[in-house]
Amino acid sequence: MRMASWQWGGRDHVGTISTDGREATPLAVADASRGVLPLIQMLARGESLPSPSSARLPVELIKLCSPLPRPLRSLFCVGRNYHAHAAELASTVFSTTMPKDDPWPIVFGKLPECVIGPFDAVQMPVPAASVQIDYESELAVVIGRGGRDIPRSGAMDHVCGYTIVNDVTARDVQMRHLQWDLGKSFDTFCPMGPWIVTADELDARTTRVRGWVNGALRQDGLVKDMIHDIPTLIETCSRGITLYPGDVIATGTPAGVGMGLKPPQWLKHGDVVRIEIDGIGVIENRFE
Ligand code: MG
Repeated sequence: MRMASWQWGGRDHVGTISTDGREATPLAVADASRGVLPLIQMLARGESLPSPSSARLPVELIKLCSPLPRPLRSLFCVGRNYHAHAAELASTVFSTTMPKDDPWPIVFGKLPECVIGPFDAVQMPVPAASVQIDYESELAVVIGRGGRDIPRSGAMDHVCGYTIVNDVTARDVQMRHLQWDLGKSFDTFCPMGPWIVTADELDARTTRVRGWVNGALRQDGLVKDMIHDIPTLIETCSRGITLYPGDVIATGTPAGVGMGLKPPQWLKHGDVVRIEIDGIGVIENRFE
């Protein structure tokens, strides 16, 4: 099942998208402002989803929004989680921030207010704020049933589904501060969508993440090449911290970010970043 949030007829709607991606079915949800969060909560309680509130619509008539337009709290984001990406950063300032073979993942937060829709424009900051804007194509895990101290062995039972995020980053700001949150949380710096594919339809542990800039393939990674796999990330993030339905864990980006190129290539006004994950779909955002 694909759970989505969209605007049509001047109103917010939530519902499902057909498997071929062509039709949207709105569901009778009292408050559509939180996107599919009420649906995630219902599924986590073992309830069935509400019935359709009106007829199906062609997807080309609706404006898809982030499935979670304003997550309940900061996204859990994982840094440097693919071997090839870690290698490309070894020649940058990040070479000293993580010992080799560290058994613990890097985890930082991205403010929920920076989430935008799957095809919305990312607003470039003024140069005084940052001149090094970069993209990061990422698989995001959406938590279903919550919990604390979730063991790795049972972690996949807590996954509601998967979506795509671009972990847009102001590299100069990220490097300026010991913590990464500021450089990762500029307004509009988290395109998300186009929907959440539920875990019964996709085992994202075996999927593929690709990213293009202006049509040129920059990133192409397999999730199975992650340093810390999805169960490990859930175990890590839930250690002493209760996870709730609708929490998002962005799992890190494959090699090929702008900072890793020689010389580095930062995003410019008018650039378009497209991210595709097999079994989920595509997001595409212009930087303006
Ligand atoms: Mg990232």
